Amino acid sequence: MGDESGVRDDWSLPDDLVTELEELELHELREVVHYAQDRIRELQAPVSDKIEAAPGEELHSTEERPEYTEVIKSEPCGEGCPDCPHGPYLYHVYEEVKPDGNASLHWVFLGRVFGRDGRHE
Ligand SMILES: [Zn+2]
Repeated sequence: MGDESGVRDDWSLPDDLVTELEELELHELREVVHYAQDRIRELQAPVSDKIEAAPGEELHSTEERPEYTEVIKSEPCGEGCPDCPHGPYLYHVYEEVKPDGNASLHWVFLGRVFGRDGRHE
């Protein structure tokens, strides 16, 4: 890794496919990467399967959308607070697949949710 002196020749891909990939233009290769990332997303378990409430959190809902997973949860702020957990808060969660194939969840905080989903006062 990190040295560009040689071409890696131990891909576990069919030779025909490697040959075809090597003939592609840069912009086509970028398309292939995007295509592969989409396919990985399709084949992997849904993001909502990977979301669990952390200690002190209360998970209200997770919903798969085409571009992201919508998560509504309440969260604790710290020790000794009588009002915990706070919220509920809305997040959009994206699964990001890195070029090395590892995926991680990217949480985008969108704000407090009013008047929906299971906040029992
Ligand atoms: Zn609190």
